[in-house]
Amino acid sequence: MTKQLVLASNNAKKAQEMQTLLAPLGLEVIPQARLGVGEADEPFFTFIENALAKARHAAQATGLPAIADDSGLCVATLGGAPGVHSARFAGEPKSDARNNQYLLEKLANLPESQRGAWYYCCLVLVRHPADPCPLVADGQWHGAILTAPRGAGGFGYDPLFWLPELKQSAAELAAADKNAISHRGIAMQKLLERLQKQPL
Ligand code: IMP
Repeated sequence: MTKQLVLASNNAKKAQEMQTLLAPLGLEVIPQARLGVGEADEPFFTFIENALAKARHAAQATGLPAIADDSGLCVATLGGAPGVHSARFAGEPKSDARNNQYLLEKLANLPESQRGAWYYCCLVLVRHPADPCPLVADGQWHGAILTAPRGAGGFGYDPLFWLPELKQSAAELAAADKNAISHRGIAMQKLLERLQKQPL
């Protein structure tokens, strides 16, 4: 019987990227919303703590192994903000458009040399809510914040996330190209390697 894994995210676009990245495992990956599981609280200062909270919450509610991603954008000039507050940088209700506008305002008039940023992703997989040895993997993706949006792909801050070597924004990349080099892609690669040694 195919093993099941709950995906602890209600962000449809993020969940889609994770489903694609998890495909090599041959598991049945079930978004938590389909099992009636709502969003977990994310009260912590670090991505790893929030990812663990989300994975535990989903495993507790479903009785199944669960994987969570906590991720966000960190801007050096802003001391790493928005960081764990990336989804709600411009307040409630959460909105990618308002977050991007707010980020542009925060960085207004700053030269290119002060617009460096990175995406960070922490993935946590728990086999059950009390799993003492969760699988943890992280990834970073470095770039810079543009002065105006470019591209229509991806989600979140992607239209503002400039990749100097590629001369494209993250929103201008094809989905498969983003997955191959992104913070989430790097973290997932590490997690898959671990899962090959310690299958579910
Ligand atoms: P989370 O769902 O609480 O982990 O919030 C993640 C937030 O970080 C998203 O809502 C986006 O604002 C941002 N973020 C994380 N990963 C990406 C990405 O790959 N592209 C663009 N924005 C991202």
